[in-house]
Amino acid sequence: MKVKGVIIGSGLSGLKSYALLSKQLDSPPLIIDFTFGGSLVMPVDITKLSRVVPKVPIFISTELVSFFPHCSIKCLPLEVIVLKEGDLIDKVKGYTTINVQRLWIYEILKKNEVCFLIEPNDCIFKSLNIASVTSLNRVRDNIRKIDAERKNIVTSQGLIIEYDFIVYTWPIHSLRNILTNISDISVNKMLTTVDSALNYVSIYSQLYLINEKISEQKVSVFVHGTKTYRMHTAVKVPISDNLYTIYVLTSYSKNYPLHAGIGEKLYSEAKRLRLINPATIIDYADVNITYGFLGAENLDIVDELRRGLGNYNIHLFGRIAEWREYDVATLLLKAVPTIPELRWVIFEDGDHQEM
Ligand SMILES: Cc1cc2nc3c(=O)[nH]c(=O)nc-3n(C[C@H](O)[C@H](O)[C@H](O)COP(=O)(O)OP(=O)(O)OC[C@H]3O[C@@H](n4cnc5c(N)ncnc54)[C@H](O)[C@@H]3O)c2cc1C
Repeated sequence: MKVKGVIIGSGLSGLKSYALLSKQLDSPPLIIDFTFGGSLVMPVDITKLSRVVPKVPIFISTELVSFFPHCSIKCLPLEVIVLKEGDLIDKVKGYTTINVQRLWIYEILKKNEVCFLIEPNDCIFKSLNIASVTSLNRVRDNIRKIDAERKNIVTSQGLIIEYDFIVYTWPIHSLRNILTNISDISVNKMLTTVDSALNYVSIYSQLYLINEKISEQKVSVFVHGTKTYRMHTAVKVPISDNLYTIYVLTSYSKNYPLHAGIGEKLYSEAKRLRLINPATIIDYADVNITYGFLGAENLDIVDELRRGLGNYNIHLFGRIAEWREYDVATLLLKAVPTIPELRWVIFEDGDHQEM
């Protein structure tokens, strides 16, 4: 198979690249990913809800709502309930000393009101002018290797794809295992150093869909700051008058690893803290987010690597490929992959926010 542009990953950055490139190229770019949706959405619908929900609670500040004209957004009062005082931030950072770029969720704790996307997928598709998932030119596959000199990709299922350029949105840490045939020694060296140079804290998130009458429409954040409980945060987000989601979160790191049985442990903690009532749970999902909070150190290595790979027509783009804590608004509206031709189109268009 031969294509001009390949996009690796189908999260927000992959879809954004797809929308931009589809306008520019004569033939649509090809997305390669083994799951759909990236960090933002559940790969499968919560069946009883027949809609996708974010894997982790995603909030948008009230000031940014007008930037999402195509999206249904709900804004509700925020209440914070401290279950146990303690070193919450240390616990959230998995008891590491890593300086993180942003502390998602905890950024909002001082606000009186928060907003969230009711249908994140729908919002992203409409904002990017993509008809549907099925309209995408996409192969569901993993990548065995990318030959940077020959410009071809071999997938796990043995497909060989020749390309002109790649937009890479997968984790920067995974590149080392799949990139081959790079003659530039400095690029090779950087590929081997990102592993140890870029630190992060991971999150394990449980999501419960609860059928229970809600007395007051508000977002509630429960925090627990000591080691007596593994859970550090639970976030309750109403969906309707008698339906809500509750996320139960813990962080993990080398200093605070996850142990077998963590699922049951969080479940029984949430029960004991009366955050969930088993009789009212109608659906459940859980997810590991390896790159939950990105470290703030050694970003210069990423920038150098990005420039080096650009010479091979491999362009890093997005939160975990560029190692930048982009939020949804920035990725959807402002950020663009650093592909020279693409930049040209954006300047030509005048306003790249109008997709
Ligand atoms: C915990 C958390 C909370 C957040 N809260 C907010 C918020 O409140 N408001 C806001 O605006 N933004 C928030 N964000 C940021 C928002 O989710 C991201 O900006 C957006 O999802 C990034 O999209 P992306 O395509 O760049 O990356 P992603 O969607 O993360 O991933 C890109 C690609 O890499 C793949 N991938 C991801 N992880 C792995 C892995 N470990 N191994 C292999 N492949 C992988 C994905 O499948 C996808 O194909 C939050 C992010 C996190 C992690």
